[in-house]
Amino acid sequence: MAKVAINLSTGSIQQEEVIVGIDLGTTNSLVAYIHPEDKKPIAINDQGRGTIVPSVVHFTQQGETIVGNEAKEYLTTDPANTIYSVKRLLGKSYQDLGEHRDYFGYKIIDDNTEGLVKIRVGDRFYSPIELSAEILKELRERAEHSLKTPVNRAVITVPAYFNDSQRQATRDAGKLAGLEVLRIINEPTAASLAYGIGISPEEEKTIAVYDLGGGTFDISILSIHQGIFEVLATNGDTYLGGDDLDREIINYWIKENELVADTINQDKHLSQELRLKAEEAKKALSSAAEYTSDIDGKIRCHITRDKFEELIQPIVARTIRSCEQALSDAKLTPEQIDAVIMVGGSTRVPLVYNAVSEFFGKPANNSLNPDEVVALGAAIQADILAGNRKDILLLDVTPLTLGIETMGGLMDSIIPRNSKIPTKAGRQYTTSVDGQVNMKISVYQGERDLVKENRKLAEFDLKGIPAMPAGFPKVDVNFILNADGILKVEAIELRSGVRQEVEVKPQYGLTDAQVEQMLMDSITHAREDVAARMVIEARTTGEQMVYQVEQFLKKNGQHLTEDEVSLTQTNVQNLKNVLTSGDKDTILKAVDTLEEQTSPFAERVMQISIKQAMAGKKIE
Ligand code: AMP
Repeated sequence: MAKVAINLSTGSIQQEEVIVGIDLGTTNSLVAYIHPEDKKPIAINDQGRGTIVPSVVHFTQQGETIVGNEAKEYLTTDPANTIYSVKRLLGKSYQDLGEHRDYFGYKIIDDNTEGLVKIRVGDRFYSPIELSAEILKELRERAEHSLKTPVNRAVITVPAYFNDSQRQATRDAGKLAGLEVLRIINEPTAASLAYGIGISPEEEKTIAVYDLGGGTFDISILSIHQGIFEVLATNGDTYLGGDDLDREIINYWIKENELVADTINQDKHLSQELRLKAEEAKKALSSAAEYTSDIDGKIRCHITRDKFEELIQPIVARTIRSCEQALSDAKLTPEQIDAVIMVGGSTRVPLVYNAVSEFFGKPANNSLNPDEVVALGAAIQADILAGNRKDILLLDVTPLTLGIETMGGLMDSIIPRNSKIPTKAGRQYTTSVDGQVNMKISVYQGERDLVKENRKLAEFDLKGIPAMPAGFPKVDVNFILNADGILKVEAIELRSGVRQEVEVKPQYGLTDAQVEQMLMDSITHAREDVAARMVIEARTTGEQMVYQVEQFLKKNGQHLTEDEVSLTQTNVQNLKNVLTSGDKDTILKAVDTLEEQTSPFAERVMQISIKQAMAGKKIE
């Protein structure tokens, strides 16, 4: 199978091109590359602004977009227009967010579906993909500015526990930022590569990667053989990190100064000052034995390292329990771990380092900057994929994405391009109409968001699905791509067992030049493709909302007052009127209005049945 390197501006095959590695983090992001002279990975520090770019996007009143440190300053002054932690939303539905919905200071749209979440900023609606793309664009621009060369290709890292949909969302964000995403790799894999572990194909190792960042914690156990990293187990807490250590210090100072927590919450200046001082204290205590400062000469901020360690001991113990659990899931003992790698700024805390080293019975690797290590490893992976490391054999990969058509003519990718073969992947779908007994499965190849721009490989009907309400059938679609490049697509309805399959050869009749053209088109059309996808998704959400609310009125109208019914009908009509407007913001605004107005009813009467009916992606 072909591996294609293209220069996006000329369309020609390009050899000497910088491919960057990107760590797209929850709190901070970084971009790194391999220095052409010493061949070592290095994080890019554009104009001395530092290597770390806070993953924060701010929308100004004038409609400008700001990313990074500057945007971070608006977190307290203008939270509704300042988006942080967008990575937590990538590839997720509102329902997925569960109890964490209140964590965010900006507005997330509750459309009560399993569709991907949207964020409302003023009258504009953004997907987490667009917001992540803003961060990636900033990183790309910094890299281009600093390296004085166009940057078109990247390897981007994701947590080992990211599912298919989160990985795809990350790829899409890259594409939207004008980057050809050569590969999505796991953060622990990147960290390992940065320490040189797993680069040589002869190496056989089992390693643990302990990652304690600003707001997330995860531990991954990886097995490495013949250059392949396999995730044996992951564990952690996506809402635990350095911020929690800061909070311990803040609470301690509140007690010591006999302050009242409620007054502090109301005093933005004071709470912000306390947060900043606490973080400063924590960082200082990583090397000093004690920290002393004050706020406005009034509040004394003093803490010793012993006290700090006593305060955070329960948090550290929790992370060690996660390590125990991960090892037990991997059916391993600490002695069987060959190396432990520290990732994330919070691993600089000596108590954390010592606890981890003690648990695994060996000193953890921490010689590289724990904030940069993931990006550095991504840069190494990029270099390997560029074919710059002659000692490393590249495995066969599939050059174009394989997927199927979903509602509205959208491409749902199942096997992403550049996946090593053989490989298999699958996804579950459901029906969109009550009593639907057939489902058309159309298989496509290509990078575009709309199937009509991609190459159709096959189509078949899964017949004989027993009549059920929309959303009830469970249809597994599996793609199996063997070493000879033959793709088997099978569809099975799990409740009845009806099954159908087809075999195709995706590379048949496809030249390298055509593959290159398809890749180029996907990048040059990324913006309009994503825009089209979002309009279709908004319309689909709107149509489903209309259907659900109308059904609801039919069945439960008697539980509502006359006014409630008539307002609902007006809002439904308003939504219907804008469905074909082609403007996603207008549609989503109408969805949001209807949702806000009707959600109390849904909670009152029918939450459960709506949820059941909306479950799962739908195929027309
Ligand atoms: P990350 O998400 O990996 O960038 O981690 C950032 C977290 O690391 C924040 O909570 C920082 O406060 C924390 N951090 C950075 N430097 C230090 C340090 N010297 N000691 C303790 N924590 C630190």
